[in-house]
Amino acid sequence: MTVVTRFAPSPTGFLHVGGARTALYSWLVAKAAGGKFVLRIEDTDRERSTQPAIDAILEGMEWLGLTWDEGPYYQTKRFDRYEHYIAQLLAEDKAYKCYCSTERLEQMREEQMANGEKPRYDGHCRDNPAAGGDSYVIRFRNPQTGSVKFHDHIRGPIEFANSELDDLIIARSDGTPTYNFCVVIDDWEMQITHVVRGEDHINNTPRQINILQALGAPIPEYAHVSMILGDDGKKLSKRHGAVSVMQYRDDGYLPEAVLNYLVRLGWSHGDQEIFSVAEMTELFRLDDVNKAASAFNTEKLNWLNQHYMKSLPVERVVPYLQWHFTDQAIDVSKGPALEQLLPLMADRVKTLKELAAQSRYFYEEYEAFDEAAAKKHLRPVAREALEAVQDRLASLTEWNPASIQQAIQQTADDLQVGMGKVGMPLRVAVTGSGNSPSLDVTLAMLSQTQVVGRIARAISYIMEREQAQ
Ligand code: GLU
Repeated sequence: MTVVTRFAPSPTGFLHVGGARTALYSWLVAKAAGGKFVLRIEDTDRERSTQPAIDAILEGMEWLGLTWDEGPYYQTKRFDRYEHYIAQLLAEDKAYKCYCSTERLEQMREEQMANGEKPRYDGHCRDNPAAGGDSYVIRFRNPQTGSVKFHDHIRGPIEFANSELDDLIIARSDGTPTYNFCVVIDDWEMQITHVVRGEDHINNTPRQINILQALGAPIPEYAHVSMILGDDGKKLSKRHGAVSVMQYRDDGYLPEAVLNYLVRLGWSHGDQEIFSVAEMTELFRLDDVNKAASAFNTEKLNWLNQHYMKSLPVERVVPYLQWHFTDQAIDVSKGPALEQLLPLMADRVKTLKELAAQSRYFYEEYEAFDEAAAKKHLRPVAREALEAVQDRLASLTEWNPASIQQAIQQTADDLQVGMGKVGMPLRVAVTGSGNSPSLDVTLAMLSQTQVVGRIARAISYIMEREQAQ
């Protein structure tokens, strides 16, 4: 039997972290078994489904690399299939027309609530062939006795008594099929063997199983994934920052880091933290997924992101890094190659966004000195050191880390001061701030003219400061 899994989002918003994790788990189950992963867009709620949401979901899946083997299917394009099966169930008397008026249903509901009962359809039209009228819905004839049992891969055995389930509407009065029915038909026709979805669907499962049984369809296996909570233990929401997958791209995370983060959010394999996609595919088991809700932890995501920035092949990371430079309107064509920049900076930042922002000075003049750094290091006492190191650097005939290092060292020796007395003013002069990778390499990545020019700028700044005093 080929394992077939699916991800079936309702396109009412972007792809959020919870959805992405469900998609990943489902994708892993298919990949591990050499099976198929289906993408299905559940867009029957026409009021809430939008094209931008569909686009955002596809974009998120693609960015994560969760490629699908089939689809995307759209439920709104499959109404003929649903109608076909509704007609079949009617013909077999496994479904029936219900003519109850809204008023009757409302009154029944109120009475049930007043009696402290769970509101449910009382089966009025179920065995009442005399009922009639122009307006009707179609209800599924749910079994009235016995129970529905299934083994959830995450939650273990689950049982619902049929007496708890009423006769579900499968077609509305305008003939359109309802959500639970479409899911059943799709899972069957798409030959889904494993349904991995959010725990908010557990209550739908017994209803769906009953319909599948009535149709003579095989019952898939189920796994209901728990919720994700924010760092504060509350349900993850916009308040917690990035909840859309694409927001993680915008914030400077690599897909590898997000996938690794998501797979660990609710699943573990010993105390291992780092999983390449190949490794998670090999090791992931639905039965090992934790049924308790998992809490989001930004620190850990940052840690993973840095790990991948440092350890993935540079050519894999560079296109993502380039995206951030473009996003921040930094033209990198006239500065160091990103392949060189990445290893230099990856240690110092948590995200690609930070990396680009902190590397601006390699590609363009900085706008102004960082105030605190200038106050501390571009003082009148630093002028002599800057002038001396400027001379030495300007007269270098070879421009590389070793020659630069030697020039700085000799300046410090000549002035009989420690390296820091030359190095810190020089760093602020060249980068505009007090933070940069080691000076020899940083300077070597800029041109000699740029470096000499920036030192001149710092010297003028000091002179202005002197005059202002
Ligand atoms: N469309 C549903 C949702 O977005 C998922 C349904 C399912 O996976 O069965 O929550």
